[in-house]
Formats: sequence, structure tokens, C-alpha cells
Amino acid sequence: MIISSAKPFEEILEMLKNEDDIFVVGCNACAAKIHVGGEPEVLEMCKRLEDAGKHVVGWVIPSAACSVASFDSLVEKNPAIKDAKTILVMACGSGVSIVAGVVDVPVYPSNDTVSLGGRTQGEVVPELCAMCGECKIHYFGSVCPKSLCPKHLLNGPCGGSVNGKCEIDPEKDCAWELICNRLEKIGRLDLLDITWDAEETTEDSV
Ligand code: SF4
Ligand code: SF4
Repeated sequence: MIISSAKPFEEILEMLKNEDDIFVVGCNACAAKIHVGGEPEVLEMCKRLEDAGKHVVGWVIPSAACSVASFDSLVEKNPAIKDAKTILVMACGSGVSIVAGVVDVPVYPSNDTVSLGGRTQGEVVPELCAMCGECKIHYFGSVCPKSLCPKHLLNGPCGGSVNGKCEIDPEKDCAWELICNRLEKIGRLDLLDITWDAEETTEDSV
């Protein structure tokens, strides 16, 4: 799941200051699940734009903004898009790009795309994968240091954590604290006996 956070409304208004006749495109996939692009958020956005003096010509929520086939597929859901002079997409950057590829008017993002994460037990979990293209997560108890450690350390903790919190971002748990706890839990602390070449991302047993 792509994790996005809603831009402050003032920032959206500033982006749209020279635009009008706005059509809002939501996303019924990730953005809906994390409440930054589903129907309640799209309706709220339309109302706030109208209240701010903008003309909203309509809105639509495709099943996934990153998987819109064509302009006609949006017209099918709401023909009002043909009157739009501007599109506001309430999805991740991928959704914004895909929608921009099928329309001939300026397209703006309402969200900031943050990370590749997930959702469990009703909670959104960000930064689970940095999409490195070479997955080694199983060596780390399936807790990815490439994504969760700000220093991207593959060969152990930097030593700066305090009470299990990251020295770079004390709001977050140290990735290596999580990794060690997980490896202990699954009985695979032996995996810590692997050294990594951070440049090559290859491993050598020691
Ligand atoms: S190693 Fe980490 S960043 Fe790379 S693909 Fe696997 S989970 Fe994603
Ligand atoms: S404290 Fe932990 S998560 Fe933070 S930079 Fe150091 S090793 Fe990485």
C-alpha cells in the first residue's frame, strides 16, 4: 500500500490560485483506505474548494487512480470531467501521473506520497519497504532496515539509539531494535552472523 498524507488545505489552495473549474479525482484503493482520497475526503474537498470560491465541476472515484485506462473511462463515471479546466487528484504521485496521462488539462496533487507501507489491525504502518529492487528482508526477520533505518544500515545498529529509539528520529523505534527482537522471537538470531557490503548489498557468512 502506498502511504500518502494530505497536504494542508492552504497549500492546495495556493497551488490552485490561478485555476478554476476543478474536477476532483479520488482513489478507492490505498488513498481511500488511509482516508486521503475516498468518498468522504473527496466530498469534503469539493465543499472546502467551493467555500473558498472555487467552482467544482464534479468528482469521481476510480477503483484505483494509478490504474485509470483512459479519459473515456473517467467520462463514463462522470461526464462533467469534460468541463474541467483543472484536475485535483487525491491519490499518491503514481495516481496523479496516470491521471495526467489521460487528460489535457493541468493536474495537481492533494497529497504528499510518503512511503510504501501497509495496514494491520486498523492501523496504518508506513515505511515498510524502500523499493530497492533487491529484496533481502528475510535476513532481517522481515523487518527492512533499508526502509526503517535512516542510515540504511545493513550490518547492525549505529550505536546511537536511546531506550530503543532512533537517534535520528527519536519518535521512531530503532530499526535494529525491531530486527533483533523479531529475530529472537523466531529463533533466528544466527542471521546476525552475516556481514553486508552496503555498496553491493551482497552477503558473506563470517
Ligand atoms: S530489501 Fe527492503 S527495501 Fe528492498 S525490496 Fe525488500 S523490503 Fe523493500
Ligand atoms: S538508531 Fe537505529 S534506526 Fe536510527 S540510525 Fe541508528 S541503527 Fe538506524
